Amino acid sequence: MKVSVIITAGGKGERFGGDLPKQFIELDGKPIIIHTIEAFSVLEEIESIIIPVHSEWFTYTKELIAKYNLPKVKDIVVGGRERQDSVYNALQSTVLEETEIVMVHDSVRPFVEAKTIKKLIEQTEDYGAVVLGTMPKDPIKEVNAKSEIVKTIQRNKIAISQTPQCFWKEIITTAYTKARNVNYTGSDSSQLAEFAGYKVFVVEGSELNIKITTQFDLKLAALVLNEIRNKK
Ligand code: C5P
Repeated sequence: MKVSVIITAGGKGERFGGDLPKQFIELDGKPIIIHTIEAFSVLEEIESIIIPVHSEWFTYTKELIAKYNLPKVKDIVVGGRERQDSVYNALQSTVLEETEIVMVHDSVRPFVEAKTIKKLIEQTEDYGAVVLGTMPKDPIKEVNAKSEIVKTIQRNKIAISQTPQCFWKEIITTAYTKARNVNYTGSDSSQLAEFAGYKVFVVEGSELNIKITTQFDLKLAALVLNEIRNKK
């Protein structure tokens, strides 16, 4: 099956601080987003990559992609106000015309492993909608508005949703279109597929697949990079 990946980079990184959005910050001498794109580019299963970016960073991203020679990046599109809008804009790309499976992945998760991407694609071929999730290590509590614990949720009933999230093209396009038509906002692509009535399955992810959101995460990222290199 033909697989495309939307690598979301439309954020301006306000939570991170500084002028440079976090996906462009260098990790081991290379922008984080380049690490992320390369993680997909090297796989023969991946045919094309589409990147939504903020309009202010459009030219910068184009230049970066040219500099690092990444021919699988077939389209760079202008993102939207929310991440959901950025994915929606990327879904309109003509590059997806021939695609059968669409993955969505955050540009700020550079450590996604090849075996994980392959497993997600395999499972999606059979099940249609599969996302990566990790099991929480700590007890999970539901609290009310007064921060009072309402109940303890069994850990084995919880999965913390990560990316990549992977779908048959028809499922993801239907989900995003339905959500847009009724102004529904979800926190990830999975939630939109759930809202549209599809069953979504979870494949167990890795604790190395961190999302670089804060300055501390950037320090953690250097450690993770070392860990991955030592494993090889
Ligand atoms: O802000 P947050 O860390 O949740 O962003 C997750 C991912 O979504 C990042 O890769 C960010 O660039 C992307 N994003 C986007 N469009 C937006 C906001 C965030 O593509 N409007």
